Amino acid sequence: MKGFIYVISFDFPYRRALLYLLRNIKEIFGIDVRLSESSLRTLMPAYNRDREQFHAGTILGILNTFTFPHMKKLIAVLDKDIYEDGMNFIFGEAVVGGTRAVVSSYRLRTDDEDLFNERLCKEVNHELGHTFGLKHCHNKGCVMNFSNSVMEVDLKSRFFCRECSNKLRLSDW
Ligand SMILES: [Zn+2]
Ligand SMILES: [Zn+2]
Repeated sequence: MKGFIYVISFDFPYRRALLYLLRNIKEIFGIDVRLSESSLRTLMPAYNRDREQFHAGTILGILNTFTFPHMKKLIAVLDKDIYEDGMNFIFGEAVVGGTRAVVSSYRLRTDDEDLFNERLCKEVNHELGHTFGLKHCHNKGCVMNFSNSVMEVDLKSRFFCRECSNKLRLSDW
């Protein structure tokens, strides 16, 4: 398939996790991946000083100003806490059927590097799944299952269930 999924690191500090993530995206979506780097300073308009968190919807708006050659999807990764109105925190956000998504590793942190890598892949695959039109899935093992806590993240896999895979039809995007 033509085009690329771009991953933008906003001063994302975990290099090995990033490389693991790039391989995972290629494996799961079968689309070539490119890495781009930006600075957290770019996201400062999304920073809420009272909450000491970044507002995810505002980040998605800032991402609208980023375009890259042959870009199919764009996913931002950062290690800062993010939230959405009415939520204490979120792991990530995307518009269903949209082009851009954001994932934070802040609440996924653990000393177990393998576990951390898995968690990051799950949340990125979940948000990318939304951009490819998928909604939340009732299937507990499916990556599109909604996670409220990191425990729930650990319970699901980084893969799409059969039902979601059938809906994905990546060629349509
Ligand atoms: Zn979701
Ligand atoms: Zn599913």
